[in-house]
Parts: sequence; C-alpha cells; structure tokens
Amino acid sequence: MLILVINCGSSSVKYNLFDVESEKSPCKGVIERIGQKGASLDHKKNGASLQKEQLSCRNHYEAIEIIANILIHPEKGVLSSLLDVAGIGHRVVHGGEEFKAATLVKEDVINHIEKFSELAPLHNPPSLAGIKGCLKIFPDVKQVAIFDTAFHQTMPEYAYCYGIPYEFYKKYAIRRYGFHGTSHRYISIKAAELLKKPIAEVNLITVHLGNGCSISAIEGGKSVDTSMGFTPLEGLLMGTRAGDIDPAVVFFLMKKENFTVEQIDDVLNKKSGLLGVSGVSNDMRDLLDAIKEGNHRARLAYDIFVYRIKKYIGAYSAVLGRVNAVAFSAGIGENVPEIKEEIEKHLKEMLPNTKFLTVKTNEELLIAKDTYALINTIPACK
Ligand code: ADP
Repeated sequence: MLILVINCGSSSVKYNLFDVESEKSPCKGVIERIGQKGASLDHKKNGASLQKEQLSCRNHYEAIEIIANILIHPEKGVLSSLLDVAGIGHRVVHGGEEFKAATLVKEDVINHIEKFSELAPLHNPPSLAGIKGCLKIFPDVKQVAIFDTAFHQTMPEYAYCYGIPYEFYKKYAIRRYGFHGTSHRYISIKAAELLKKPIAEVNLITVHLGNGCSISAIEGGKSVDTSMGFTPLEGLLMGTRAGDIDPAVVFFLMKKENFTVEQIDDVLNKKSGLLGVSGVSNDMRDLLDAIKEGNHRARLAYDIFVYRIKKYIGAYSAVLGRVNAVAFSAGIGENVPEIKEEIEKHLKEMLPNTKFLTVKTNEELLIAKDTYALINTIPACK
C-alpha cells in the first residue's frame, strides 16, 4: 500500500512515497525556492536522481501539481493513476492542545490548523497550502495531518506551564508545546528496539540534533518533558536559534539597538545559535572545519552546543529518575560521534547503567505508518 508523505516548508515541499509494508520509498524528492526565481525540483526514483532541474513554481499548489505529475510520469514515476495512493500524510508543525494523535483532515481540522498559524506563522500556513492543494489534486485520497506537537501532549501540567500569570495560559494558550514530536517518537521506538525491551518499560532521553535541536524525556514511551517550548526557539543551542536565554536580554537589546519586535525575532531565530556565536556558519560541518583551523569562536559555539546538551541530560535524568538510554539522532546526532562520546564519557559515573546510542531518525516513515494505520480504521468513502 502506497502512502505519500508531504512536508511543506515556507519555500519548499518535500515529498516521499512509501510502500508501508516493505518500508521502501520508490519515489521521493524536493521542490525548493517556491515563489522565487530559480525554483528547482530534485526527484529520485529507487534512490537514483532522475531529474534535477529549474522550473517555474509560483506557489505550494503548483508544487503539489508538479509532484502529482511526476509520480504518474511513465518513466520518472511509479503510479499508473493518482488513485494508487492510498493516503497522504501531511507534516504539520503546530497542533496546539487540540491534536494528540494523527488526525483525518476534515474542515474543522483545517480551521484549527489555520487558528494555530498565529503560534507558528512560518510553518502552519505552508502546511495548510499543501493540504488544500492535495485535497484538490487528489480529491479521492484520504488526507491525514500528523502534528509535531502531538507526541508531547502527554507532558504533565507542571512541565508545560510557564511561571507567568495563569490568565495568559487561559487567554492565549501560552505554554510549552514542544516540537520534533514525530522524530522523538521514532527515536524512542528504535532505541527500545535496540535495548530489546518493550517501550513501556524503558525511560529514554532522545536528542534530535539537526538544524533545529531539541531533547526529550520519554517515560515508558510517553513524552514527559521537552526542551522546545511555546515556539521552537527555546532549549538547546541550534543552527541559527539562541535556545534558552534570559528574557531580559530581549528588552535590553530592543532598547539599546532600537529593535522592533520583528528585528529581535530575526536576531534570536535566524542570527543566533552556532552561526551567531561562531560568525562562521550555522552548519556543523563548516564549524568542525573552522575548529581544525584553530578558530576560537567556532570552538566556543561547539562547546556551548555540547555543554547545553549535557545540562539537559542531567536535568532530564532527574526528571526520569532512571534512564535506560540516551539516543542521539538527526544530521548532527547521526554524523558527529564525538559529541555523543564526549557526553558519554563525562556522564559515565552519574549514569553508569545508561546506554548511549545513535539512531537514524525517519520522521517521514513514521508519518506514512501513522497515516496507513489511521486510514485503515476508517471505512472507505467511495
Ligand atoms: P534539518 O533539521 O533541516 O532536517 P538535518 O537533520 O539534516 O537538519 O541536520 C542538519 C545539520 O546536520 C547541519 O548542521 C549539518 O552540518 C549537520 N550534518 C549533516 N551531515 C553531517 C556530517 N556528515 N558531519 C557533520 N555534520 C553534519
């Protein structure tokens, strides 16, 4: 059974067609620079890059059209008709408190995603555009929304409430939501498999280190705390995001530099983190090269990055009481073993019975599986 996974960013759409039984992906690709000059498509069939070209793509609707056309293309695609797709799983960043699991897309779901656009202005509108595009282009295919926030909805109230007047939680739903939920769930499932134990019996700390970085405490398969908060800005140091910071720095900088709200938002989200500290790059590969050349600020950025992960592992060990494994994943977590090794060495005495693992994350596969599982519980509509 084939499930199409759609992941819309502000100017990109990633797509991945999965055969859920074999977990293989016969076709995948990405359209980038949507709405800009020089939009491009990179399409792969059975792992081989078949088409890498510039094309015109003005918006997300056109991107979905391009994807549909290439999937049914006689040579480049694998479908004889769009109806060969059993379901479409959409990654949606923010589901607020409303969505705790994969959800079939209906009008009320679209309205809710629209409502949460205020909380995720960069992420939810493109997802919505992708969903609306798919509803038109694949009208007979069931669509499922998978929320980044859903997995963290099991956090207890004392972990998700901030220490601000409670009325602001009630009025504006200001609380910790957490993100990367599908990845943390996937990592925890794989870590339990590696430990050869039922997930319900293990406590895990999952560390997702990509461009965005977050860490979660997982008790018996349930997220009980996570480092990203109301938005993905909180927590670990990231490629361009500051992570934890004294909020007073924000007012201070706004006064001193005469920043508007948008400017300070830009500084903390896009000019901070590894990039801001090192002045070199937000990309860990560039940072590692610069460190080899003796660049002090690159070293400092790396050290802050590792130090903060260490601190969170300490905090989450206290939250969990007992930790079976700490699992590192995503671009940096999977490719820079020295980070895991340094942290493991440092925490050996504190966590003598804890395994330190590397797990390759695959959010898209889990989105496909969740979509498949959900559509199989619903009677066919036609
Ligand atoms: P995203 O959050 O965009 O999915 P990824 O999971 O792809 O991000 O992670 C991107 C990060 O992973 C970048 O900082 C990149 O430098 C780093 N990365 C990817 N491959 C390597 C590698 N071989 N060595 C070191 N860092 C890597």
